[in-house]
Amino acid sequence: MAEYDVDLFVIGGGSGGVRAARIAAGYGAKVMVAEEYRMGGTCVIRGCVPKKLFVMGSHVHDEIADAAGFGWSIGNVSFDWATLVANKDKEIDRLERAYTTNVEKSGARIVKTRAVLEDAHTLRLATGEKVTAKYILIATGGAPNHGTEIPGIEHVISSNEAFHLKQLPKRIVIQGGGYIALEFAGIFNGYGSDVTVVYRGDNILRGFDEDVRKHVRTEMEKRGITIITGCTVTKVEKHGSEFTSHLSGGSSIASEQVMFAIGRHPSVANLGLETAGVAINPKNGGIQVDHWSKTSADNIYAIGDVTHRHNLTPVAIREGHAFADTVFGKRPVQVDHATIPTAVFSQPEVGTVGLTEEEARAQFAHVDIYKTDFRPIKATMSGRDTRVLMKVVVDGASDRVLGCHIVGDSAAEVTQVVAIAIKMKATKADFDATIALHPTAAEELVTMRTPTARHVRQAAE
Ligand code: FAD
Ligand code: NDP
Repeated sequence: MAEYDVDLFVIGGGSGGVRAARIAAGYGAKVMVAEEYRMGGTCVIRGCVPKKLFVMGSHVHDEIADAAGFGWSIGNVSFDWATLVANKDKEIDRLERAYTTNVEKSGARIVKTRAVLEDAHTLRLATGEKVTAKYILIATGGAPNHGTEIPGIEHVISSNEAFHLKQLPKRIVIQGGGYIALEFAGIFNGYGSDVTVVYRGDNILRGFDEDVRKHVRTEMEKRGITIITGCTVTKVEKHGSEFTSHLSGGSSIASEQVMFAIGRHPSVANLGLETAGVAINPKNGGIQVDHWSKTSADNIYAIGDVTHRHNLTPVAIREGHAFADTVFGKRPVQVDHATIPTAVFSQPEVGTVGLTEEEARAQFAHVDIYKTDFRPIKATMSGRDTRVLMKVVVDGASDRVLGCHIVGDSAAEVTQVVAIAIKMKATKADFDATIALHPTAAEELVTMRTPTARHVRQAAE
């Protein structure tokens, strides 16, 4: 008789868990996956995918506004929020079925229930059933923060609810200055809501390149989004179907919805981690893991958002795959977390890979900056008041390109490809040797010849 019921038990059917389960099953392991909500996890059900669909739909507003300059005359247009939500839900249902089928086809078994650890080799399912496993993978993801409790917090929605609103709010207040706040600010603004972003710091997108932060803010404000910095929402009051958000500065804003997008926390609560000997990383509250994603318990691994390393779908997938290769494929693989490209699907879009100017100047003695800020060709005909930012950060000593930052249409698409060059350690000379593709915005990346700034640290600095 087998020592354990299964070789691998995966807790969480999201991006990382699904990849690990399929690959491990492909190596012949007997795998069980527990999912307490919907197969596909955050990214598919209430993250990247529905968000991108909402972003794409909200761009139509710009296309219509820009059309007149190209000779189109478009009569009365209307938009129906309920149709958008229903069609998005249909697509998400399709993807959920596809994720379920793919896991089952791989030979892994799905149990649609919550699972927690009873000890290092035993799982307790919400159904009461117990399952023993040789290896356990914790891939439980994360959930939205509500932040410090404030009066009226029960009226505040997170991104989870924003995907299912019955009506498009005429006015919405969004607290936060990161990915989700800015993406939803663009979404609601595009569909016609009056949007106010409230951010506690001096400028949005902390941690991004300073030029990017300034550029995005200016462009969002040009689109009619109000951005209030240096304060927080301290109280939310309900009056009928309206809310009043009181701000720390003393002012208040009326709206039909109030949304907080103030970060996410790893889902580690009530999982039985202590009983199984799985330690928490005191620095970030996620599960502590080594370079192999192994926890403090020898047979238990953790991947994706629950480790709170880089909370991005492709990272969770890569970690899940590496785990399965290492433990079941006899092919040890460590994930390289350096130079991960990322995009904020705000409007305009941000694409970034590698070091910001500030990070490069802290690490390198000689940094050259190549920066351009220009009116995109489409705006010359549409009349839209908008500018694109492109910035390349170079180590002056080795000529290596350290970072690339783009704000404008298709920034994410361009950044994905630039990331290959940067990962291959391309130099500025390699960029210069590449013939431009004309007419594009991205050609600027290979035609900037003279540094717009040079930072050389003196020996005593
Ligand atoms: P998840 O996908 O969160 O999966 C965890 C699963 O575990 C969930 O389905 C959950 O129900 C289940 N679970 C939890 N506890 C248990 C339990 N005890 N028993 C059984 N099941 C359990 N990333 C990008 O790269 N690009 C984007 O554009 C992007 N957009 C985003 C937009 C939004 C609004 C949000 C919220 C996130 C976005 N992300 C994006 C981040 C991305 O969604 C996550 O990084 C990714 O989903 C993490 O995958 P995971 O497998 O670690 O966890
Ligand atoms: P972010 O970490 O991106 O942003 C959180 C924002 O909330 C920051 O501006 C932060 O301010 C602010 N904040 C934090 N705590 C408080 C508080 N108590 N009161 C007021 N403001 C606060 O988190 P998000 O929620 O936007 O997204 C979570 C993660 O999901 C992202 O970090 C990313 O990893 C992932 N994601 C990725 C996307 C993509 O790839 N396109 C899209 C969406 C999410 P401060 O900067 O001052 O700390």
